[in-house]
Amino acid sequence: MSKNRLPQNAVADIAMCRINKLMLMSKEQASSGDVDLARRYVDIARRISMRTKTKMPKEHIYCGNCLIPMVPGTFRVRLKAHKIIMRCMECGTVKRIPYLREQRE
Ligand SMILES: [Zn+2]
Repeated sequence: MSKNRLPQNAVADIAMCRINKLMLMSKEQASSGDVDLARRYVDIARRISMRTKTKMPKEHIYCGNCLIPMVPGTFRVRLKAHKIIMRCMECGTVKRIPYLREQRE
């Protein structure tokens, strides 16, 4: 780490920009069939997020186990009991996202 560190909000801005870019690239690769490269981009995006203590943006969904990004064909999506149930077609990991709050609004 250098002595002249950027303020945290500048770091977060740059991190966010790179994470978004990487996730878009990852989705592109996953749709065109290069799953390994797609996973690698997600991995890099996650590392940036961890190192800069920036949260991964919610709109980018990926498998928590095998890191494949969500594009048509990689996940099976069902709605059940106020939750979005997403099952990864690669490794079978299930992700549940509640949407009760959105429904009440
Ligand atoms: Zn998976």
